[in-house]
Amino acid sequence: MELTLTEFVRLALGGALALVLLSALLSRFFHARGERQALARRVICRLCLHAFEDSSPGCIVECPVCRATTERGRPRSLG
Ligand SMILES: [Zn+2]
Repeated sequence: MELTLTEFVRLALGGALALVLLSALLSRFFHARGERQALARRVICRLCLHAFEDSSPGCIVECPVCRATTERGRPRSLG
C-alpha cells in the first residue's frame, strides 16, 4: 500500500484531532471527579461555620477551629 502525501496529511490531522478530543474528554472527566471528591471531603462546622476539608473515614469530624464535632455530609441549614 502506497501512501500519498494528501492521505498522510489527512491521517495525521485526523489523528491529532482525535488525540485532542480524547485528552479534552479525559481531562474534563478527571476534573469533574476530583471536584466531586473535594466536595465530599468538605465539611462546614455547625458551630462556627468554618469550612474545612477532612479525609478521615468517619462521619463525625472535629472542627480544627472550635473543636466542635460536626456530622459530615449534612446539608447546611441556617436556622
Ligand atoms: Zn468550628
